[in-house]
Amino acid sequence: MTEAADPSRDRLKHHFAQRVIHQARQILEVWQRLQQSEWSATDMAELIEANRRLLRFAERFEQAEHTQLATAIDLALLDVEANRGQLSSALITDLNRLMQRLSRTGLRHGDRLEQTALPPLRKPIYLALQDHERSERLARQLEFFGLSAQSFASIEAFHMTMAERLPAAVVMDVDFGGAGQGLKLATRMQEGLEQKLPLLFFSHHETDTPTRLAAVRAGGEEFLTGTLEASSLLEKIEILTRVAQYAPYKVLIIDDSRAQATHTERLLNGAGIVTRTLLDPIKTMSELADFQPDLIILDMYMPACTGTELAKVIRHNDRYVSVPIIYLSAEDDLDKQLDAMSEGGDDFLTKPIKARHLITTVRNRAARARNLKARMVRDSLTGLYNHTHILQLLEDSSFRARRENKPLSFAMLDIDHFKRVNDSHGHPMGDRVIKSLALFLKQRLRKTDYIGRYGGEEFAVVMPDTDLADAHGLLDEIRQRFAEIHYPAQPVDLFCTFSAGVVEIAEDDDALMMASQADEALYRAKKAGRNQVHGLAERVAASPSTKHPQPDTV
Ligand code: GH3
Ligand code: MG
Ligand code: MG
Repeated sequence: MTEAADPSRDRLKHHFAQRVIHQARQILEVWQRLQQSEWSATDMAELIEANRRLLRFAERFEQAEHTQLATAIDLALLDVEANRGQLSSALITDLNRLMQRLSRTGLRHGDRLEQTALPPLRKPIYLALQDHERSERLARQLEFFGLSAQSFASIEAFHMTMAERLPAAVVMDVDFGGAGQGLKLATRMQEGLEQKLPLLFFSHHETDTPTRLAAVRAGGEEFLTGTLEASSLLEKIEILTRVAQYAPYKVLIIDDSRAQATHTERLLNGAGIVTRTLLDPIKTMSELADFQPDLIILDMYMPACTGTELAKVIRHNDRYVSVPIIYLSAEDDLDKQLDAMSEGGDDFLTKPIKARHLITTVRNRAARARNLKARMVRDSLTGLYNHTHILQLLEDSSFRARRENKPLSFAMLDIDHFKRVNDSHGHPMGDRVIKSLALFLKQRLRKTDYIGRYGGEEFAVVMPDTDLADAHGLLDEIRQRFAEIHYPAQPVDLFCTFSAGVVEIAEDDDALMMASQADEALYRAKKAGRNQVHGLAERVAASPSTKHPQPDTV
């Protein structure tokens, strides 16, 4: 018992840790469901029960972090119970924060800050592809991104390994081991399991509907065709193996009547929706920037201005063009309602309103707006934030940093001699390098950092609560690791490096000033020989990283 290095004891501990994580996942599933419905008493009871089970497991298996979290969640849920019908945004936010922490325990590995005491889930991915050589190559590429992957030469080898250890997910070629055999193998595999494994099917050729149907029936959650590419595969696997994290919807209520606003808040809070009230419409723009609501509920008649006027002002700002605006008013003149809608509103609800009606309208509108926004702010090649949005995030973050008196760093990265990559290996290879750097940044930076594609082969990173020295250190480590990746190519493998410039926010910097200073630091890094990270010298004396020999980029 006392021998620290007893391997069977380690395995046992690992096994117990998995049980605890499994239970944590169940809680998160209920939590996710709650984001789509009103919070019924049954749901809450289920959540409390699931959490108590987690607490029991965690105590029994001596998982300190989970014990502590489950205890805190239990207290928060008791609070929620005690305040039924009068939930506050603070309570919802607290509970959500605990759930987010729970979702990070043992599930994610790229995050330094959130590192947990538990061994992170690092089960391998099994690759069962018809083309074994390709499969091996893919496995090697996945390893670069910190994922362990194993490929198999035969059905027997697959069975043997499955019997030894279950993977985090399986990528199955429909023709693995012979035409159509992969499908059958996957079906048998899932039948023998208590808990179905995340399963992705692959086919080298386009397939017909019966094959796809069979794949769906075998529990396939994705069907990929054509060429399998490490970075896009990784993204799919991440989604399948992670418990998605829903944050509660945020609604800004603008109303000069406190009583009316409080009433609306109470209805929405009762469904787990976070609210904030603004009594003075003149402060709308700064409140929007600070709170970043998913939706706005607007009173029609206020002393300072009318709701329609305010809606116009909001819509004048590009950022808020797509935030849904719902009017809530006693106005029952249909013509006036229609006028209001044509002035930038999305819906008109008449007081008094039924809780259910209000909640459903808010949820549906907010969900669609989030969905749309996710597409609008993303760059399609890399899935990172696009140029406009990363600058907006920098603006928001600098606003927050100044108010909370916390550091904030901003970095710009640019791939070195990228033109040569395109010229000698072709544009598709260039795209691959861009995508892989994007993925690399996502994996290595913290979840609290914002990553954007600034332009062609340029990236930008916003790092809240990070000073220049830390930001510099983090980026320099990423720089070194990125230079180690080699891309298989003819006649020799391809290596790429990047240069970066990083700045920390100073007294009265705005976003644009930070961006131009980061750009300047980047320019210096380039001029000093590339493959290095520079801080802006006049402000804080961050030395350039020790120079490394430039790997041959062509
Ligand atoms: P430096 O080290 O000074 O940054 O040299 P560079 O060659 O990387 O810089 P330059 O800005 O001269 O060239 C960038 C090249 O990146 C030019 C453009 O053709 C290429 N590029 C921009 N966007 C994309 C893209 O989306 N895909 C690919 N494949 N190439 C791109
Ligand atoms: Mg460039
Ligand atoms: Mg470049």
